[in-house]
Amino acid sequence: MLEVRNLFVRYGQHRALEDLSIHVAPGEIVVILGANGAGKSTLLKAIGGNCEGQVEGSIEMDGQPILGLPSHKIVETGIALVPEGRGIFADLSVYDNLMLGAYPKRARDVKEENLERIHELFPKLIERRHQIVRTMSGGEQQMVAIGRAMMSAPNILMLDEPSLGLSPLLCKELFRNLSEVRKTGLGILLVEQNAKQSLAIADRGYLLENAKIMHEDKAASLASDPMVQKAYLGAGAASSSKPASKVSSKPETNPSDIAAAALESFAPKEASFAVPPSIYIPSKNAPTRSADELLGQSVTDLVARATSQAGEPTNIDVPIAQNHNDRLKSVLAEIEAAAASARGRPARTKRRSSYRNKE
Ligand code: ATP
Repeated sequence: MLEVRNLFVRYGQHRALEDLSIHVAPGEIVVILGANGAGKSTLLKAIGGNCEGQVEGSIEMDGQPILGLPSHKIVETGIALVPEGRGIFADLSVYDNLMLGAYPKRARDVKEENLERIHELFPKLIERRHQIVRTMSGGEQQMVAIGRAMMSAPNILMLDEPSLGLSPLLCKELFRNLSEVRKTGLGILLVEQNAKQSLAIADRGYLLENAKIMHEDKAASLASDPMVQKAYLGAGAASSSKPASKVSSKPETNPSDIAAAALESFAPKEASFAVPPSIYIPSKNAPTRSADELLGQSVTDLVARATSQAGEPTNIDVPIAQNHNDRLKSVLAEIEAAAASARGRPARTKRRSSYRNKE
């Protein structure tokens, strides 16, 4: 049993976790939900012994205090972390990664049994044992990361946003795999932004908001809680997984809209997460804020500056929107002209000439 009591973490003056208490029993999946910056990764790092901040409170694994121990000693108590970004050795083979996971003393004698267990859970990993990890798909790499952590013979497996960057299909497979891992008796502490799928496999969940646990409940109750639905499973959450192509397919002509759509589709993780900082007390009548308000500056000005910085002259006598539309028209005209001239050329001549160029 992993038991965290009254945990405080500070990075300098910044309080990342305040008076946090959670527990994870063997064979249960516990999910921590929270907005960006709420302190989820900090919690896992503090438990794993690799937090850069000042950590105070109590963390016990099977009754043994582990706060203050170096991370390799914490692994020996039966806690394994799959960090955000997986933390695997991409230039090594699957097998080498798994064997590195078996380095802790507690795992050395049970290496073969653990390999067998991983074989049953993830047969693909054993089939692909000689493949270099960087050549694998994102989902397969995530499997390697989980397999490697399991090779350390943990009783508690912690995962920091394992579904990040995976396609919906691979996400499904990942969560199915985690359910299977739980059946082996491991306790799983899962930090996730994919609330829907993580709550579907979890037993319990905690809502972490602004460094504090605001709510704890059974996963099924959280999934049906209207506030949680609004903050994590609602329309906003759906828009965070909207593919970029859908965003750009809108018939926008206004430069502000185009820039806002581009910002949305290329936004880093922080901006793409749909939950506002005050997630658990959502304001029903919150006014919709414009892109200008969100950015704190005029998007039209941004576009104009970007245009002039790209070396294209901005005609100050012509309104920006007009100028933008003119540029779009001229680019479209160029594309049309290029396509027309390409259609006129026989494909074979083109290929031959490219071979000649190589010679
Ligand atoms: P995300 O979902 O974006 O990963 P999170 O909930 O995991 O967010 P943390 O990474 O735990 O959040 O960060 C919590 C707060 O602590 C943030 O405000 C972050 O900027 C700050 N923080 C995290 N690591 C450090 C650090 N090494 N030094 C200073 N501040 C940090």
